Amino acid sequence: MKTIKKAKIAELLDKIAAEQTIFAPVAVEGVTRFARWGQHKGDLYLEGNSLLPPKDLLFPQTEKMYSYHVKGMTAAVDEVATTAEPQIIFGIRPCDVKSLEMLDDVFLTKGYVDEFYKSRRDNTLLVALGCRKPEPTCFCTSWGIDPAQAPGADVNAFDLGEELGFEARTEAGQKFLDAYTQFFSEASSSAPKAEECTLKVDPEGITEKLQKMFEYSLWDELYHKCLGCGICTYVCPTCHCFDIQSENRGDQGFKFRCWDSCMFSEYTRMAGGHNPRPSKKERLRNRFLHKLQYFPERYNKFACVGCGRCLSKCPVNMDITRLIDRVKEVKLDE
Ligand code: SF4
Ligand code: SF4
Repeated sequence: MKTIKKAKIAELLDKIAAEQTIFAPVAVEGVTRFARWGQHKGDLYLEGNSLLPPKDLLFPQTEKMYSYHVKGMTAAVDEVATTAEPQIIFGIRPCDVKSLEMLDDVFLTKGYVDEFYKSRRDNTLLVALGCRKPEPTCFCTSWGIDPAQAPGADVNAFDLGEELGFEARTEAGQKFLDAYTQFFSEASSSAPKAEECTLKVDPEGITEKLQKMFEYSLWDELYHKCLGCGICTYVCPTCHCFDIQSENRGDQGFKFRCWDSCMFSEYTRMAGGHNPRPSKKERLRNRFLHKLQYFPERYNKFACVGCGRCLSKCPVNMDITRLIDRVKEVKLDE
């Protein structure tokens, strides 16, 4: 394993940033998020998982899709920008690496390839940082994730106390480590084990149970306290809904897409005013069913990685782990 003193990490990042585009977790005014190293004003944040996942580096919050101009009675598409620059995401946690499997399913499978996402994904090197001690709101182990290990990353880093240890998982990861070999020492350390999450859920059979609970009274009980603020979807690494809009100026304009949230009433409102999810009840039910029933039915996996962000940030403590517990307790034939 290659190791580096934690005190030297910023120097390593400076060196990489002088040659390549690298994003790392930083704390800026109390918010922890991924920012381009060398162009940020925050401090490196490696103590826990960031408030915001690095999802926007592969699926930006707002993204121009093409521009167009009109000449007489004809319209022409001027630009389709789908080639992303290479980038490195440093310090991404194992749950967030796992969440990319769900984004890959949505954007790259079932007969559709989203070229914007694909180009970013193909040009992104992932340097994951394993967790030693999950936070009280983490429950990734319930989804089978090892908090220390990120099998989908190019490099897996480990917290060794005073140092970070690095192991390449792919050829690209090995090349990355070789390029900065002057920063590393060789050590015989082995990857440390992570503590088990204290928060646990048992998702066994939850999809089949929910298939029979679309009209169940639980949803009537739960939705009242939801504010419809959408924070849960904004911070979630697996949420991926977007809207497409256009901006016109004179005889030219562009189409862009931007994140949307199924917790907003406009999300399903149709041009004529009809809304198939008219109240917070239908919207809250949809969010949980999407994570635990619809996504597993379509992709054979849950759309949650147990990062705990939604339950720690929801202003009214809506908690997907309590929802799972409640669903498990329901006796359907009573
Ligand atoms: S964060 Fe909480 S209050 Fe806000 S929309 Fe989600 S469940 Fe509702
Ligand atoms: S649903 Fe909540 S706990 Fe699960 S991945 Fe999304 S933000 Fe994390």
